[in-house]
Amino acid sequence: MKIAMLARNANLYSHRRIVEAARERGHEIDVLNTLRVTMNITSHRPEAYYNGAKLELYDAVIPRIGASITFYGLAVLRQFEMMGVWPLNESVAIGRSRDKLRSMQILARAGLGLPVTAFAHDPKQTDEVLRMVGGAPVVIKLLEGTQGIGVVLGETEQSAKSVIEAFRGANVNILVQEFIKESRSQDIRAFVIGGKVVAAMQRTGSPDDFRSNLHRGGTAKQIKITPEERSTAIRAARKLGLNVAGVDMLRSNHGPVIMEVNSSPGLEGIEQATGKDIAGKIIEFLEENAVKGKTKTRGKG
Ligand code: ADP
Ligand code: MG
Repeated sequence: MKIAMLARNANLYSHRRIVEAARERGHEIDVLNTLRVTMNITSHRPEAYYNGAKLELYDAVIPRIGASITFYGLAVLRQFEMMGVWPLNESVAIGRSRDKLRSMQILARAGLGLPVTAFAHDPKQTDEVLRMVGGAPVVIKLLEGTQGIGVVLGETEQSAKSVIEAFRGANVNILVQEFIKESRSQDIRAFVIGGKVVAAMQRTGSPDDFRSNLHRGGTAKQIKITPEERSTAIRAARKLGLNVAGVDMLRSNHGPVIMEVNSSPGLEGIEQATGKDIAGKIIEFLEENAVKGKTKTRGKG
């Protein structure tokens, strides 16, 4: 197969591994810097160009679109979809997962467990928002944050209020969430490919941090998840329409609650913690499912 990977940095571990796995299996793979793809979006026949050359004949595209370039990256991916290239994850599904509110609304509607979460635009409603999630301690999150940056614990009513007001004053969108204390700085990442959990790890935050992100000094180890956790992860990926997803959950007193669903999950942590060849599994899935022209949405909806 001829595969394109949309990624800004070909040297990242995840991207190197995907390229390696594809070549090992005899495929041709090009890494295209997402921001350097240009498009004629009005052409009758959708086209895309790279360094002045027309892009054609790809069977599949692997989107690895960083959070900071979601807008342009999704437009490029949509263009590929309109050209009939099969995407590992569709642009519409990635769009859903990138919007924390939208994805939580979709997951809640499906009856999946989530931490009690509130959202308000107006800082005047701070008291009401705090009341909705059961009062301090609460977790306050920047809607656009990743890697644990912009996730703050408001331990008391007063500190929670100050943080909410500061964020709102800076004109950024936030959500306020019940603090799942019993998860004890640990979370679970279930790696889903094609409706199956292929690997799972537990991340533990450094002793002085409630956040378990590896980027914040957390450590990871392989874990056996419960059947309930497994089905929660699978259903979350399916509801968002993602073939490949990293589903992050907390173990709460009332079962697994989903924190977020990542549409470009990193491979380094999970491959190292579990010793599994996740890149290989991604390429295998692609081999079994990539059919030219067969995309669910072609960027619509
Ligand atoms: P990011 O997208 O920046 O990774 P997350 O929502 O995943 O943001 O939060 C980062 C980390 O903070 C999580 O991995 C978890 O360890 C901790 N955390 C987040 N939300 C809660 C919560 N409601 N209760 C307890 N811990 C939480
Ligand atoms: Mg996270």
